[in-house]
Amino acid sequence: MSCRQCEIAQRNPLSGLYSATCDSCKARAIANGTDLYDAKRAGEMTPRYREALEKVFGDRWQKGHEMVKKWASNQKGTT
Ligand SMILES: [Zn+2]
Repeated sequence: MSCRQCEIAQRNPLSGLYSATCDSCKARAIANGTDLYDAKRAGEMTPRYREALEKVFGDRWQKGHEMVKKWASNQKGTT
């Protein structure tokens, strides 16, 4: 992915290392958080999840959402 922390996380999804300047890391943090968990359980994009995306990615929240989904599927079966 886009930084060293992301590379480590690809091999070890539980690494918990994030770079503050990397969009992919921010998406990964959301993918690991309760907002996405709740949205998945609800089967839809909850206002809180949408808010979390907008807080981090602003106008690019949809792109952020795509990255979050990628990380979430990457982690499937490993947790
Ligand atoms: Zn990163």
